[in-house]
Amino acid sequence: MIITDTHTHLYSEAFDEDRAEMMQRALDAGVQRFFIPAIDSAYTQSMLDLEANYPDNVFLMMGLHPTHVKENYKEELALVEEWLDKRKFYAIGEIGVDLYWDKTLLKEQQEAFAYQIRLAKKHQLPIVIHCRDAFDEVFEVLEQEKGKGLFGIFHCFTGNLEHAQRAISYNMKLGIGGVVTFKNGKIDQFLNEIGLEHIVLETDAPYLAPTPYRGKRNESFYIVNVLQKLSSIYSLSEEEIAAITTKNSKDIFGI
Ligand SMILES: [Zn+2]
Repeated sequence: MIITDTHTHLYSEAFDEDRAEMMQRALDAGVQRFFIPAIDSAYTQSMLDLEANYPDNVFLMMGLHPTHVKENYKEELALVEEWLDKRKFYAIGEIGVDLYWDKTLLKEQQEAFAYQIRLAKKHQLPIVIHCRDAFDEVFEVLEQEKGKGLFGIFHCFTGNLEHAQRAISYNMKLGIGGVVTFKNGKIDQFLNEIGLEHIVLETDAPYLAPTPYRGKRNESFYIVNVLQKLSSIYSLSEEEIAAITTKNSKDIFGI
């Protein structure tokens, strides 16, 4: 069984004490493919180090995270563009809009999002969307940039059925993680109305640990709890869910 974690921040400081053991736990459980979203240029070197240590398992993305769109965002975007010209990345991510922490830079966040969608199209790469308290604002940009060359993953999907269908209409797969195991997570109640061909698995480690680890540090090994939950939602074996979602991840990332 090969499980794919399509969104995991394995370079995070949260793993500095026990990264090798944490990686081994995941690998032993069959989690063999890790897709690594970028945040901003401060983390680029740690991402490259991680890739050097796990060249067969780790696949890097490049991008500027919406909560890191600050006064210097144009310089950050120039660095993103420079890296994309320099070497292979597997997606532009994570990009999008986050109005949970700060609403004052909405315009800049949307501008950075749209700009990076255009970079993705230019490099024929998928995008990985971060959306928090901002469905309307994210859909506004997708509506404007939709069409040929737009595809990717709506990461940590937490919306309703209508949001899910709309995201899929823009060629997005839904990244499903720990939230599906939460008592009040809500998405478990309609997910079976969404075909599995639209679903990929993720952890967003070190954030959003699934039940029974909720509130603790998350790690990629805990994706097996997400897998179990999807197995019960879709009435399919864990092996089948792993195979289908891994295939979906290959369709998106091209590897
Ligand atoms: Zn993330």
